[in-house]
Formats: sequence, structure tokens, C-alpha cells
Amino acid sequence: MNERLGRQRMSDKPSRNEAEYFALREAELHRERHRETIQSHDDEERKTHFMKCPHCGADLTTVSVDGLTIDRCRECQGVYIEAKAAERMLKAKQEALHGMFKSMIRGVSSH
Ligand SMILES: [Zn+2]
Repeated sequence: MNERLGRQRMSDKPSRNEAEYFALREAELHRERHRETIQSHDDEERKTHFMKCPHCGADLTTVSVDGLTIDRCRECQGVYIEAKAAERMLKAKQEALHGMFKSMIRGVSSH
């Protein structure tokens, strides 16, 4: 055993290094709990936004149109697509793109 450590353990008072260690450890635990609380709050808030229109807050409905999966809002008529669907649309030929876009807004714009 290290002679210096042995002397510290024999003392009733914690050394300055021990006090600093525990203070730093306590501060780190406090920061960790704070991060967990914020993360938990963010997770709960995200759940309340799931499948809600980012424009008006109404429920979104997932539909498949010409092989594309899109989310539609019947309240404000917003249409939302994921990046993969957007990439497919960008790769489509002009005529096919026109058809996809018409199909996407069909049903929403006819209200
Ligand atoms: Zn909406």
C-alpha cells in the first residue's frame, strides 16, 4: 500500500483532495441528472408531435401514392414526404414526376 494513502485513511478528516474529488463527482452527477431530465422532457414532447401536421397540428394520415409513402393533412392540406421519397421523385423522369405530384395532391386539393 502507498504510504501517503495509508496516512490519509488514518485521519478522521477527509483530505482536501478527497473533498475536491467528491465535490467534482457530485457536480458531475448533478449535470448528468440534469441532462437526463432534459432528454426525458424532449422525448415526451416528441411523442406529442408524432404524426401531427407541423403547420396546423392536426393528425397526419399516411398514404401510398404511386409507390411513394406520404403523410397528408386533411385540415390544412399539407403534404409531407420523407427524404427517400423525395430522392425517388428527383430521379423520376419529367412525365413520371408530373404524375407523382398530381397523385400526391389528389384527394387533398379536391376538398
Ligand atoms: Zn395541417
